[in-house]
This record gives sequence, structure tokens and C-alpha cells, in this order.
Amino acid sequence: MIMSKKVAIIGSGFSSLSAACYLAKAGFEVDVYEKNKTVGGRARQLVRDGFTFDIGPSWYWMPDIFERFFNDFGKSTSDYYQLDKLSPAYKIFFSDDVITIGDSMDKICEEFERIEPGSSAHLRKFIAKAQENYDIAINKIVYRPGISPFELVTVDTAMRVDQFFKTISGQVRKQFKNPKLIATLEFPVLFLGAKPSKTPSFYSFMNFADFGLGTWHPKGGMYKIIEGMKALAEELGVQIHTGHAVEKIKVANGKAEGIVMNQQQIEADFVLSGADYHHSETLLDPQYRQYSESYWDNKTFAPSSLLFYVGFDKKLKNIEHHNLFFDTDFERHAEEIYDDPQWPTEPLFYVNFPSVTDATMAPEDCETGFFLVPIAPDLEDNEALREQYFDVIINRLEARTDQQLKNNIIFKESFCVNDFKEQYNSYKGNAYGMANTLLQTAFLRPGLKSKKVKDLFFTGQLTVPGPGVPPSLISGKLVSELISQQK
Ligand SMILES: Cc1cc2nc3c(=O)[nH]c(=O)nc-3n(C[C@H](O)[C@H](O)[C@H](O)COP(=O)(O)OP(=O)(O)OC[C@H]3O[C@@H](n4cnc5c(N)ncnc54)[C@H](O)[C@@H]3O)c2cc1C
Repeated sequence: MIMSKKVAIIGSGFSSLSAACYLAKAGFEVDVYEKNKTVGGRARQLVRDGFTFDIGPSWYWMPDIFERFFNDFGKSTSDYYQLDKLSPAYKIFFSDDVITIGDSMDKICEEFERIEPGSSAHLRKFIAKAQENYDIAINKIVYRPGISPFELVTVDTAMRVDQFFKTISGQVRKQFKNPKLIATLEFPVLFLGAKPSKTPSFYSFMNFADFGLGTWHPKGGMYKIIEGMKALAEELGVQIHTGHAVEKIKVANGKAEGIVMNQQQIEADFVLSGADYHHSETLLDPQYRQYSESYWDNKTFAPSSLLFYVGFDKKLKNIEHHNLFFDTDFERHAEEIYDDPQWPTEPLFYVNFPSVTDATMAPEDCETGFFLVPIAPDLEDNEALREQYFDVIINRLEARTDQQLKNNIIFKESFCVNDFKEQYNSYKGNAYGMANTLLQTAFLRPGLKSKKVKDLFFTGQLTVPGPGVPPSLISGKLVSELISQQK
């Protein structure tokens, strides 16, 4: 009998669960070791007093990538969760107006015309170009492992090489003059973790993901995807061990031989870490680490976040499922995240109320509220600061939506830099990994395969292709293919 080769996977976020499924399907014996009590990593769930919160991600974009993942196993997303397209997709509050993004280009064009007459013709052209980029990026580039610069060289990219050197910010400003429309079109690339003025215009494919493909919601919340992936992994034979913090990656003669936790050694033919890359390397003796502390320190990290999970004892008015509060200075907040890291003077923030469209998320006549303030990584974090900012954003929410809310809060929990570090071993408490800038794209990112230790691999939002749930699914697939090639 031929024995299956063993893979020990560290972490159970989207990337680890994705890799676990592909590796099990390829015939490996797969064990997942997760430090926390539940799986899902940054996408875990908080359930309290009948309210359900997604702890991290809440925007379901690029439904094609989720579908493709489950299709690879002869399944569909609908085998695991019900997906609904949100209408409207979201609402943006500015200081003097509110923009509503509908669920079709026609509705969005109408809204653009209202703000800037004549802008819808530019928008249609901009989105048509973004769609071409989406097709190239998703169908021809992103499923490549980031090993060689030539992966980026195709006839299509060669014809668009200028778009890697121009920025999304410049591109948007050329075609739109109204600051509210500019902010609306710069919003999607914030998911990539850097300032729009530092993000190549080729990434306008995020605008197609937004306006062209729409915003979706898995009934019951984003955690339904994690539950689906866990169920799939287990169907494929993956063993998942929660409450297991890995303390060391064992290396002998330059080869990964397993992991160590609680003085117990677990042998494996391959080790794959889906924990934050920086932390994963600290599990190795220094001579086996590929990247120095100064390497990490010089990288552009995606922001950290101050988060609040709030149960309200009434239904709120004038809000949608997703709400962006861009009623303060966008540029200044971005500078306070990236250029001169400090707590924001007047923060932009995001709130979702999933119970607006999904009754399973809150008790009857109640609302589930998730608040997010993006902040620079590694800022000082304490209770007093968190409270100070909650006051600021709840006051703004009350004022902009014309209602009293403070006396309707049943409970409130918060999560910030210290929690990201403590709960996920996150480098500097980053929320969503290393940004996708020109110099942090594809082969220029930390690699999926260790250059120093044989049979050691990495996956997740600090490696290829980048931050976000869809890229994490792809990262797991890419690394599983590299491991399968070694079999
Ligand atoms: C607040 C927030 C909002 C976001 N919003 C969105 C969104 O709306 N849409 C979107 O697409 N993306 C969003 N993202 C990004 C998305 O959630 C992440 O890109 C994705 O979940 C990362 O998955 P991962 O597998 O790379 O890492 P993680 O989810 O961080 O998984 C790593 C796992 O490794 C575990 N671990 C760490 N050290 C050890 C150890 N020593 N031993 C064992 N286990 C260990 C951790 O506990 C964790 O479970 C958001 C992220 C955050 C935090």
C-alpha cells in the first residue's frame, strides 16, 4: 500500500482551508492546526444574545471566484449557503449629500448623472476598461504563483503596461471632477490596502467587481462561507485541530520535518503556514528565515482597524446593509494611516447592519451593527482611546441619519490593534495583510515557497496574490499546486 504524504497546515483562515481542500483532493493526508477555539481566522463569528456578527470581512465581492472554488470540488456555493445580491449595494454619506450605489449599471449611472451631469458616459467607458482588466487579471494572471516576473507578461498586459505605472487616483481624476464621485471610485481599491495614489490603475478591475459584479450577502453572514469550507474539507478527509498553537517549525538538514506544540512533535512531509508570514518565520530558527525585520518594517501594510460589534434594541432608519461615512477629509485620514501614522483627527468609517436585509442576523425588531475605523498598524491601543472614537462615530451616525441611538445599545464589544496581535499573531496588528502596490505585486511579494527550507510553504494575505477573501482562496489553490508538484 502506498502511504499518503502528510501536510501539516498552520492556521485555519480562508487561505489555509482552501489549501487544505485542494491538498486533500490531491491525495495528501492533511491536518490543520489552529490556535483559536474556532476556525476562520480573521473571518470568525461572534454570536451574542441572539445577534450574529462577522468579526472581520463583510463585503462579498467577486462571486465568480467563490463559485470557481466550490466548482473545483464538484460543488457549488449553493450547496453550502444562500447568496443574495444586495439592492442597493451600499450607501455613502458625504457631509452634504448621500450617494446610493444601486445593483445595476443603469441605476449607478443615474446616480452619477444626478451628481455630475454628463459623468455617466465617462463612467460606462471607465467600467468597460475595468472589465477588460478584470478579465485579464482574474482569468490570465492571478492564478499564477508569483515565482517569475514573466508571469505578468502577456500580450494583454504588454498592451497595458502604462496602467502599471499610472495610479488609480490619477486615472479617476482625469475623467471625473466631482470630489464625491472621485471618492466613490477610489473606494474599491482601499481593499488592496494602499492609498489610491499608490495603487496602479490596472487595479481598476476592483471597480468592475464593485459596479459590474455587485455586492452579495451569504444568508447568515460571511461565516457561512467558512462553515461551508470546513464542511468540504472534512468531507475530503482533512482533520482540523482547534486550540492548537504551533510553537515551532521543525527543520532538519534544511528540510521541514513537522511542527512542535505543547512539547509534542508532529511529523509531516510538508509544512504549510497560513498564519501571518512574519509570525510564521519566527517559528523558525533565525538561519532559516528569508526576510529580516527591516524587510518587513519597510513594507506597506494594509491598515489595522478599530472595530465595534453593537447590538441595538430597535430598527434603525435611513441606513442600508453597508454604509460608508466619507463625510470628513479622505486625504487627511489616508495620510494619518500611511504617511504620518497616528490616530485619525476626523476618521472616515464604515458601518454594516446585516440585519437590514437578513433577519437571521438579529432578534426581532433589533439591529446588528458592525463599525470599522481604518487606522495605521501598531498604534497605541487602549480602552480610553477606543471609547473616545466610539463617541465620535456614534455621534456622527446619529447626526447623519437623524436619530438617537446611544440609549438603544444593549451591548458593545470592541476589537483593535492589541487583539489582532494577540488573537492572530498579526504583524503590527494589521487587519488585512500586506498592501498590493506596484512594488508589492506578484513575484515582488513574500513567496509561497521558502527559499531556505525545503518542503516549507506559506499562504495567505501577506503572500501571493494579496489581501481579501477572494485572493486568500486563490492563494490556497496556488500553494497546493506547488506542493503537489513536489510529491
Ligand atoms: C476587519 C476586517 C475586515 C475585512 N473586510 C473584508 C471584506 O469585507 N471583504 C474581503 O474580501 N476581505 C476583507 N478582509 C480581509 C480578509 O478577511 C482576509 O484577507 C482573509 O480573511 C485572510 O485570510 P488568511 O487565511 O490569509 O489569514 P487569517 O484569517 O488571519 O488566518 C490565519 C490563521 O492562523 C492562525 N494562527 C496564527 N498563528 C498561529 C500559530 N502559531 N499556530 C496556529 N495557528 C495560528 C490565526 O489564529 C488565524 O486563524 C477583512 C479583514 C478584516 C480583519
